[in-house]
Amino acid sequence: MGNDGGSFAERAELVKLKKPEKRVESLLVAKQRAQFCSLTKERLRKPIACCRIGYLYNYDSLLKAFMDKKIPQEFKHLQNLKKIKKLNITENPDQNNEFPFVCPISQKSLNGKEKFQALWTCGCVFYEKLIKDLKIKELKCPICTKPYTEKDIVQLCPTNEEAEIKKAQLYKEIELKEKQKEDQKKQLKVSDTVDNLEQQQKKKVCTEEQKFKGQTMENNKLQNHTQDLKHNEIYQSLFHQQHKLEDNLFTRNVRFGNR
Ligand SMILES: [Zn+2]
Repeated sequence: MGNDGGSFAERAELVKLKKPEKRVESLLVAKQRAQFCSLTKERLRKPIACCRIGYLYNYDSLLKAFMDKKIPQEFKHLQNLKKIKKLNITENPDQNNEFPFVCPISQKSLNGKEKFQALWTCGCVFYEKLIKDLKIKELKCPICTKPYTEKDIVQLCPTNEEAEIKKAQLYKEIELKEKQKEDQKKQLKVSDTVDNLEQQQKKKVCTEEQKFKGQTMENNKLQNHTQDLKHNEIYQSLFHQQHKLEDNLFTRNVRFGNR
């Protein structure tokens, strides 16, 4: 390792070191993160982006890696472009300085040792103590005044220990979201099946109702027909009786000469 853009010291290497050495080594890593793109290890140059872990990247190199689908496994937290934020970062006016960026208000250089923050909402980058120094109480960006929440704060250029903690958190969140998606899919499948069953059941009930209605209508028709027949019979018999009565009267009148 060193300032040649090679790989940063990894945890395994750091574990072998004694505590004070480890601290120095860890700070050295943070310092390198303030100078070199965490993905390509090239010197950082605008436009710059960061991820939730707080690594800095040359935005164009990152885009190219996305397009070529060449994101290494150790950066699997960069699932898509939503997982990076393009930064509003200020270049060091001293171009010969080893650190390329500064806080636009305090002029402190982003050197990996001083704590710097980026805000996920607006992308502004500033020296962490600025908020305290300016006595800003509400959560508003000290550069552009856009409101933000605690969740939007990204600590830039973490040491390896800090990065490990952040990575573990991120991976947990990713796993949780994936699990939720899976559960939702399963839930949808189950409700689909239930819906299908319900629809089938409804259809069945409808068909049976229709069948029943059909039968009832037939029965009613038959009943009506039978009633009609009965009425006819009654009418006919009444008619016959009337005729009989008239015939009898006529015969009787003839017999008694009442015509
Ligand atoms: Zn801002």
